[in-house]
Amino acid sequence: MKNTIYAIVIVVCFVGAGAIAYKYIFTSGSGGGIDDIPEGNMIWVKCNNPACKAEYQTGEKAYHKYILEHANPMAPSAPPLICKECGEPSVYRAEKCGNPDCGIVFIQGSSGPGYHADRCPKCGYSKTEESRKRRKAEMEAAREAGR
Ligand SMILES: [Zn+2]
Ligand SMILES: [Zn+2]
Repeated sequence: MKNTIYAIVIVVCFVGAGAIAYKYIFTSGSGGGIDDIPEGNMIWVKCNNPACKAEYQTGEKAYHKYILEHANPMAPSAPPLICKECGEPSVYRAEKCGNPDCGIVFIQGSSGPGYHADRCPKCGYSKTEESRKRRKAEMEAAREAGR
């Protein structure tokens, strides 16, 4: 009987920790909690409905609030938003390509597994990769300067 109670306690602790970690993942993406996101911050979203393909900007804060409220703890990915054009739940967080020669809007992770989520499926530009490269170059420059 005691063992059963222990098992329940362990399961409750585990589920609680999972929920906290889950919330943390969704709220920490932009650094800090939802309340830290400035009211005017906008992000790109794109409709995955082939008949619609709407691309528009939405408030980052409202987006995260929606995700937190509609997230399914059993599903590993963020739930889709309701499209303001076609009304289908098929809108996902998107990125605008940072390459000035390209500039398309694409759903995060379009380049598939193994690539940064913000890698452009058309030209291959990735903000994350670029900033990492820049940071590495800066670190190397600092090391050179320190000699
Ligand atoms: Zn749509
Ligand atoms: Zn691009």
